[in-house]
Amino acid sequence: MAATRTFSIIKPDATRRNLTGAVTKMLEDAGLRVVASKRIKMSREQAEGFYSVHKERPFFNDLCTFMTSGPVVVQVLEGENAVLRNREVMGATNPEQADEGTIRKTYAESIEANSVHGSDSDENAKIEIDYFFEPEEIVG
Ligand code: UDP
Repeated sequence: MAATRTFSIIKPDATRRNLTGAVTKMLEDAGLRVVASKRIKMSREQAEGFYSVHKERPFFNDLCTFMTSGPVVVQVLEGENAVLRNREVMGATNPEQADEGTIRKTYAESIEANSVHGSDSDENAKIEIDYFFEPEEIVG
C-alpha cells in the first residue's frame, strides 16, 4: 500500500518539558517518518483558525491560549495509513482514557495539555498540512 501523510503538532506542554525528541521517537517507532518539521510560536490568529471547527465549544478560548503559550513543533508524517497509525500511537484525547504505551498516556498532563495533535481524516490532514507548510518544505 502506498504511503499517506498526516499532520502532527507537538504541543506546548511537551516542548516545555523538553519532550520533542521523546515524542518524535514514539512517532517514528510507530512506523511514521517525519518528512517536514518546524518549531514555531503560533499566533492567536493561527490557533483560532486552526481550531475553528471547535469555535462554539466551551474549551475553545482556553485551548487557543494554551496552544499559543509556548513553542510547538508542527510536522508532516508519512507512512502506511498515516492518519490511523498516528491516532493509535497518540491515544485518546483524555489521557486518563488513553491506552498504555500511547503518547498521551505516557506524557499528557490533562485533557487540554495532551502533548500532541494529529489529523482525524485524510481530508483534514491535507487541509492542516497546507495551513502550516509550503510544498517545498516537505521532503519525502
Ligand atoms: N480539548 C480540551 N477539552 C476538551 C476536549 C478537547 O481542551 O474537553 C482540547 C485538547 O487539547 C484536544 C483539542 O482540544 O486535543 C481538540 O479536540 P478534539 O476533540 O479534536 O481531540 P483530538 O482530535 O485532539 O484527540
